[in-house]
Amino acid sequence: MQPCQSPFQPPCQSCGACCAYSRDWPRFTIEDDATLALIPAPFINETQSGMRCDGERCSALLGRVGEATSCGIYAVRPDVCRTCMPGDPECALARQHFGLPALPQA
Ligand code: SF4
Ligand code: SF4
Repeated sequence: MQPCQSPFQPPCQSCGACCAYSRDWPRFTIEDDATLALIPAPFINETQSGMRCDGERCSALLGRVGEATSCGIYAVRPDVCRTCMPGDPECALARQHFGLPALPQA
């Protein structure tokens, strides 16, 4: 996954699809405990393995997918959320799911 290295700047600020595609995407990977401690507890799932999701949508995602979105914990978002780039395969998959056109690779 995911939103994104520069998300919530164009084009991500009018998308948010990768934040709402799968509850398995915003997971914790290489973060240390101190880094994870910066994420407010209500946004973390029961098993402490990733972000809490409502259905498939990350609980930290604000706004409407495909219209205007932002990350409520942008400064402390998980590492996986920093690696997704607009136009990469995960981006294309998520955008297709929400009926949004694919983007050129950044
Ligand atoms: S799906 Fe692509 S364009 Fe949309 S928020 Fe994620 S990286 Fe950005
Ligand atoms: S933490 Fe932020 S960037 Fe990561 S999936 Fe949730 S809303 Fe998206």
